Amino acid sequence: MTTKHFLFVTKEAIDRWCLTNLLWFLIVMDPKAWFYICALIVRGYLPLSALPIADRSWHVNTAVVGKFWHISDLHLDPSYHLTEDRTKVCLSSKGYPASDPGDFGDFFCDSPYQLILSAFDFMKQQPQQTDFIIWTGDSPPHVPVDELSTDLVIQIIRNMTDTIRKFFPNLPVYPALGNHDYWPQDQLPVSTSKVYQAAADLWEPWLIPEALKTLREGGFYSQLVQPDLRLVSLNTNLYYGPNKATVNVSDPAGQFSWLVETLERSRASKERVYIIAHVPVGYLPYAINTTAMREVHNEKLVEIFRNYSDIIAAQFYGHTHRDSVMVLQDDRGNPLNSVFVTPALTPIRSAAEPYSNNPGLRVYEYDPQEFTIVDLFQYFLNLTEANREKRPDWRLEYTMTKAFHMKDVRPQSLLRLAESFTAPQSDAFDKYFNHFMVSYNDTVVCQGICKIIQVCSVQFLDQASYSQCIKGKAKTEGIDYNVL
Ligand SMILES: [Zn+2]
Ligand SMILES: [Zn+2]
Repeated sequence: MTTKHFLFVTKEAIDRWCLTNLLWFLIVMDPKAWFYICALIVRGYLPLSALPIADRSWHVNTAVVGKFWHISDLHLDPSYHLTEDRTKVCLSSKGYPASDPGDFGDFFCDSPYQLILSAFDFMKQQPQQTDFIIWTGDSPPHVPVDELSTDLVIQIIRNMTDTIRKFFPNLPVYPALGNHDYWPQDQLPVSTSKVYQAAADLWEPWLIPEALKTLREGGFYSQLVQPDLRLVSLNTNLYYGPNKATVNVSDPAGQFSWLVETLERSRASKERVYIIAHVPVGYLPYAINTTAMREVHNEKLVEIFRNYSDIIAAQFYGHTHRDSVMVLQDDRGNPLNSVFVTPALTPIRSAAEPYSNNPGLRVYEYDPQEFTIVDLFQYFLNLTEANREKRPDWRLEYTMTKAFHMKDVRPQSLLRLAESFTAPQSDAFDKYFNHFMVSYNDTVVCQGICKIIQVCSVQFLDQASYSQCIKGKAKTEGIDYNVL
């Protein structure tokens, strides 16, 4: 059998070849030609690609980055409907009257399906190429325990899974379970359960058999996302304070030892790792001396993350419903890891809270060689405006590097940003706090102890360094630490 070879040459390639050879000729004839060529490049008349230089690697490829979506805390409330009696708009308001209910929701209610559809519709319409989606849990609504059941919780997770697959049939999705993805809420068990089994069945199109196996057993998994990038999805609900099944258990479901083994293997295989989970590591940015998970489990997790920070490229969480960052440091204050907490899609707030968040979702840009995160694009829906205009105008809230004049969002840059927050009048902190609420209300100010708690939670994730920060800053501001 003979094979024919064809050579395809485009008109552009011929033009470039002619131009390149002409430039060579000019340079050989007169070395001063370089000066004129540079002038033409600067004025934009001559493309850099025409230069007669064999290796142009200093010019090409710097703009190539990967992108992925992060969605979290969808909290679908199927009971949401518009009605005259505002106490009956949604079960998730728990009898409290909805404030300004409309087609896309209310700040005292969890998400109507229409809000969730508008978010996915917006994501689908974006021209940018994204490589995958991370989805950090919490699909069911905040309703009294007897309004739900194991079957209803599974049904809601199925509804959300099917909706995501319908919108993005060809995009890999990596989910993590949330504390509401169980019935009764928060009680995720240390061994297999109906919910873990159902999640594995539902997520089978996205995950490999090895990942599905540990998901069925303990609600966590790891999987290669790209040849050198491993994603580890942790079930941090096992470490969540209200989980009665794991009180006084040092390693619930053996997840810590599994994590260490997984990271050890990744290090040996020269992989980089993304950690995703629902309940974040570290301290809550709105409550003093309060870790998001149980303190003892937080200390252990921080220790593991420090030991493997050379291979962990970044960490991603949800659960707080607010937009925040953290920088994991070693015990000498060197920045190790960037930690991102994404705001919720649901706008719900409880009556006791002073503020809420607009619905949000985001895109991260990553370096395709190191897999470090280089930028973050936060999108949001102004809920009040969307309800008033009966149109969901999802748009960019901010780009992190632009908003804070940073070169990237790697650990060193995030630490520098965190340090700038501590200045008494820090515009950067005021902006960060407005983003924290997803532009819900820019008249709310955070100062004094509110700011101390925020600032310390960004930089310090373990008990010793965090309490030292709180005490030090309280002393500087003349606040009596003992009464806090
Ligand atoms: Zn949530
Ligand atoms: Zn949660």
